[in-house]
Amino acid sequence: MKILVLNCGSSSIKYQLFDMTTTTVLAKGLVQRVGMAGSTIDYRKGDAGKKKVYECDVLDHKIGIAKIFELLTTGEEAVLKSLKELDAVGHRIVHGGDKFSSSVLLTDEVKKAIRDCIVFAPLHNPPNLKGVEAVEDILPTIRQVAVFDTAFHQTMKPEAYIYAIPYMFYEKHRIRRYGFHGTSHRYVASRAAQLLGRPLNELKLITVHLGNGCSICAIDKGQSVDTSMGHTPLEGLAMGTRCGDLDPALILHIMKQYELTIPEMDNLLNKHSGVLGISQISSDLRDLEEDWPNKSERANLALDVYSHRIKKYIGAYMAVLNGCDAVIWTAGVGENSPIVRSIVHRDMSWLGIKLDFEKNEVTWRGAEGDITTPDSKVKVLVIPTNEELVIAQDTIECVS
Ligand code: AMP
Repeated sequence: MKILVLNCGSSSIKYQLFDMTTTTVLAKGLVQRVGMAGSTIDYRKGDAGKKKVYECDVLDHKIGIAKIFELLTTGEEAVLKSLKELDAVGHRIVHGGDKFSSSVLLTDEVKKAIRDCIVFAPLHNPPNLKGVEAVEDILPTIRQVAVFDTAFHQTMKPEAYIYAIPYMFYEKHRIRRYGFHGTSHRYVASRAAQLLGRPLNELKLITVHLGNGCSICAIDKGQSVDTSMGHTPLEGLAMGTRCGDLDPALILHIMKQYELTIPEMDNLLNKHSGVLGISQISSDLRDLEEDWPNKSERANLALDVYSHRIKKYIGAYMAVLNGCDAVIWTAGVGENSPIVRSIVHRDMSWLGIKLDFEKNEVTWRGAEGDITTPDSKVKVLVIPTNEELVIAQDTIECVS
């Protein structure tokens, strides 16, 4: 079965075409600057083929998706004889509210529900929907599936998802913790069970997803019981440019003191905070880690704050889970930063974690591995995430 996976952002479209009979990637790439001048399309045949970059006008998502279809079916590097070979399309949809606890076949009703959740994810759900509608326009009979970032966390109990504010906000407006990165947390948890050689439904796991956005999840017997992102992806860990947890009174105080408007404050918390805000150097951890620990005091402070927050959550989730078999690191920073992993896991032997610093140093760039000593009671694993594969698998399940 040939499944196309699409992740449509406001100005980008990430795509990956799978042959799920052999679980291989036939082609993948990225459309950038959708709706802007200077749009480009990357195309890579196979998982590790040479990347080709094409310049073309991509005025909207429909044009972008039509170009992707053209690259997949024409020219020297085509991987499909025609679009008839395509069996289904799976979409990453950021917010499904509390309506979806698993992936679903896209129908008019599901599209309406995604539209209803725009109020929760105004930057993400509209372009996600544009992708769905663009495919519908080009291939009206193809089956499409929605895979939600929030679905995995629907197993949380009220004590984990209700905020301590007047209950009316939950009852009337569904204001609660939803959590995000569900597809990634789900993937690395099941992969961890395979690596540990134990059934997932016997394990207590803490998964740490550190990319541009960062979140951590407590998983008991394969089910999410708590996660750090909340009603929006702003809560929890400190991120590249997002503040994460904060004394809510500070927001009022800063707005008053600096006479900031709501959009200005929103911008400050989402775009100018996190490690960028502290360091004033960069939101990219690679820049802060260069020459570590001799770069600058502020670069070190940003890395320390970032890591301390992760350590604190790991401790909290060990308490929530009443134990832990393994901590799993994933995504850009989680997979590639021995520095952050070593700061976080330093002095955790009382909690049963003994890092093997040598293994930690050499485990990165797509490698999977256990980075603890043989006598470490709690294992620490590095597992590259693969959200696209989960979307392709869910798509097959929904259309079969
Ligand atoms: P993702 O959202 O998973 O693609 O992750 C993107 C983030 O990963 C970037 O913002 C970088 O800060 C981080 N990253 C990528 N490579 C490295 C690396 N070698 N060391 C530290 N951070 C990295």
